[in-house]
Amino acid sequence: MLISHVLRTKARAVNRRRREVKMFARAMQHRTQPIVAQIVPIRRCNLACTYCNEFDHSSDPVPLPEMLARIDRLAALGVSVITISGGEPLLHPGLDDIVRRIRSHGVLATLISNGYLLSPARIRALNDCGLDYLQISIDNVRPDDVSLKSLGVLERKLEWLASESRFSVTINSVLGIGVRHPEDALAIARRARALGFHSTVGIAHDGAGQSRALPEDQASVYRQIRRLENGVFSFAHYDRFQENLVRGLANEWHCRAGARFLYICEDGLVHWCSQQRGHPGIPLADYTREDVDRQYALDKACAPFCGISCVQQTAMLDEVRADPHGMLKDLLARRRASDPDFRIPALLRLIAWTFLDNPLAARLQRIAVRLLGSGSV
Ligand code: SF4
Ligand code: SF4
Repeated sequence: MLISHVLRTKARAVNRRRREVKMFARAMQHRTQPIVAQIVPIRRCNLACTYCNEFDHSSDPVPLPEMLARIDRLAALGVSVITISGGEPLLHPGLDDIVRRIRSHGVLATLISNGYLLSPARIRALNDCGLDYLQISIDNVRPDDVSLKSLGVLERKLEWLASESRFSVTINSVLGIGVRHPEDALAIARRARALGFHSTVGIAHDGAGQSRALPEDQASVYRQIRRLENGVFSFAHYDRFQENLVRGLANEWHCRAGARFLYICEDGLVHWCSQQRGHPGIPLADYTREDVDRQYALDKACAPFCGISCVQQTAMLDEVRADPHGMLKDLLARRRASDPDFRIPALLRLIAWTFLDNPLAARLQRIAVRLLGSGSV
């Protein structure tokens, strides 16, 4: 690997970390301001996974000017992270411009893709437009009649990503009722780690976003995958939501979808999440801070067994904000239960103290947001 590539990759990682800290500071500073938005530039997909309800085979890409206007609106609402999903977003001819526009606002840009359309040239183009994160979900080791998102099929693409990408790559595998070969998830996570990527594991949900307890063999695979992740900021260590769902226990939490998390469908309407469309179903162009505040206060009946991890991760920031001491104590207890030698990382302790835990925290949050500014590609 060329030294210049390694240096550029490291510089990008530092820049990304700086903007992650800024996102955290903003989330702590404002109680209701949106943090994460998911956008859909195209509903069409080149695959047809049988469990999926988020694609079709016919729709056109959303016109680029419309996508750019949606990004500008989300930036005006104050979001810190925009996730581009689909369908398959690599089918959108203006994807690079979409990423560039997100970055022009200093917002973190994330792409969720099935990876099929990646090539070395496509990966370099994503580097150049400033993509921050790529997430690829892989369902099995070998393709079957449920899903073609397979480690065997995507191996070559993963190797290209390992050698070419300057963005952060996460490989997600899935467990849950209907998963035929749970041991595949562990093989996928191990391969991801061997290639230098992050690995996560999701719990399958139904069409209303609801997850069910894992059988014991799958729960065991889940715990093994969780132990592979050792990044300081990884939610994997701290995800009580998934831990409860694995056991079939309800989560007590307040879903802030429609406020802290916004899902914008291909038609430009704001929904709670990908599985709860129609609520509130207001055009993004007309979505106001009053709408955000109203949605923030709403109770959602689907919350106790919700398996939408991106919304729960956003909610975890609110838990930190509401009770930093309790949250840190809880994190530590959970992590130590599975790994008695675990010590909370010094960097996380320092950030928690700086932004949450000292008499000057509010002032430091404002200073951090100002100093960290907006990132360049
Ligand atoms: S690749 Fe993704 S969007 Fe396409 S059908 Fe499969 S799960 Fe759905
Ligand atoms: S609890 Fe929130 S994220 Fe989960 S399904 Fe309901 S609206 Fe979606």
